[in-house]
Amino acid sequence: MLSDNIFLKIINKSIPARVIHEDDQCIAFHDINAQAPVHVLIIPRKVIPTHADVTEEDRALLGHLHLVAAQLATKLGIGEGYRLVVNCKEPAGQTVPHLHLHLLGGRNFSWPPG
Ligand code: AMP
Repeated sequence: MLSDNIFLKIINKSIPARVIHEDDQCIAFHDINAQAPVHVLIIPRKVIPTHADVTEEDRALLGHLHLVAAQLATKLGIGEGYRLVVNCKEPAGQTVPHLHLHLLGGRNFSWPPG
């Protein structure tokens, strides 16, 4: 449900997650329903419900999320090729109302996406 922000519970440590990166701006953890051999979610600590809600104030934060994604891709051994996905709102498949980057790798991906 888009109204239920389970990622806030992961940030607050009230539910567990397989966290692989944490800093003052973001946290990254393995997706519970992996769609590829590597499937990590990178989320800001700041609650931004959807990609459409970003503002000029978030410019540096968005850059930081991408830098972390590139660093994690190398760390997780998928630097040769990976896919970054942001689903924005329900028609695009967003289920959690907290901006997140999906970092996927370890297999080949087709295009166009489903
Ligand atoms: P989206 O559909 O783009 O909003 O992505 C939400 C993602 O969060 C999905 O890939 C889910 O599998 C994942 N997810 C939901 N709950 C958890 C959880 N507790 N721990 C890790 N990943 C989760």
